[in-house]
Amino acid sequence: MHIGMAGAGLSCAVIARELAERGHRITIHETRPHVAGNCHTERDAGSGVMVHVYGPHIFHTDDEEVWTLVNRYMDFKPYVNRVKATARGQVFSLPINLHTINQFFGKTFSPTEARAFIERQADTSITDPQSFEEQAMRFIGRELYEAFFKGYTLKQWEVDPKRLPAAILKRLPVRFNYNDNYFAHRFQGMPAEGYTVMVQRMLDHPNIIVHLGSALRPADVGQYDHVFWSGPLDAFYGHADGRLPYRTLDFERFEGEGDVQGCAVMNYNDVDVPYTRITEHKHFAPWEEHARSVCYREFSRTCGENDVPYYPVHLTEGDQLLQRYQARAAQETRVSFVGRLGTYRYMDMDVTIRAALDAVRSFIGAHQA
Ligand code: UDP
Repeated sequence: MHIGMAGAGLSCAVIARELAERGHRITIHETRPHVAGNCHTERDAGSGVMVHVYGPHIFHTDDEEVWTLVNRYMDFKPYVNRVKATARGQVFSLPINLHTINQFFGKTFSPTEARAFIERQADTSITDPQSFEEQAMRFIGRELYEAFFKGYTLKQWEVDPKRLPAAILKRLPVRFNYNDNYFAHRFQGMPAEGYTVMVQRMLDHPNIIVHLGSALRPADVGQYDHVFWSGPLDAFYGHADGRLPYRTLDFERFEGEGDVQGCAVMNYNDVDVPYTRITEHKHFAPWEEHARSVCYREFSRTCGENDVPYYPVHLTEGDQLLQRYQARAAQETRVSFVGRLGTYRYMDMDVTIRAALDAVRSFIGAHQA
């Protein structure tokens, strides 16, 4: 079959490679001048630092098949994400762990004592938290919520946390020990030569052609036996029912000498600091040495028509607009919508790859029947 794809990010790269190895011909149109979507990495010419151009991406997963897949294309170096938080004039450890709790409350709790203390802070009358705020009240209580989550979340989403789904906060663990690994997954690492080289290797197959700076238009679907669309779902329909809301990010890049902030990610949780975090990219590759440093100050705002969409905005009240587009998409027989933008989901890289493998399986299943 001749298969068309819109986008050369992780989703389409995985699907393209899997189908190319099964003998299908793949033509990919990518509007950007590079592959790898928002996980694109590029070595900065001046400093030599590997820069996460669209913000930090740390690979972590519990999915052994996904971990094996990425390691087929790239050597992954050991990396543990340890995030710090500047709040109320102090530096804390994230995610919330025993160190954070003891430092914040000025205590020397043991794990058992801390658990009992937080349980007293928590609102145990909430049995089934629906919103971000309810999830916080139930599991960490008002004081920690207001110090670490309320301000940051208002900056990140510009929505009252009462209207955001609990799932956003469930991304972060709460620990009653000193484990400050931001992620709770078995496998974690950083690609030795960056994500873009990894994706280029996935796409390096005689059955795959990639056109950069080129768009696959919905009107072109008929040229292919099947199309995988990883662009925005609403863009496929010309935004006919309206625009699905996204958050976009602005990065204020600055350089420094040596070590600027001492860690890869420093969150700024107070609402009066306009940015959400500063990332210092050399720390994402601790096995490399560079004299100079490249940092990004990260600002979140509503995504306009000409901005790069980052985070889909899901609200607790549900989303009729999304449902309308999903109903349209369900009618398509020759188009599969994939990835963060195509399925309008807040997806980590490993979840993206898992979903891509599942899309391959269902495509093969449907076309063998
Ligand atoms: N969050 C927060 N304070 C923090 C870190 C995260 O309030 O210091 C909230 C915020 O709403 C964010 C969500 O938790 O959108 C998920 O955080 P994560 O670090 O997973 O965000 P990502 O790295 O995907 O931007």
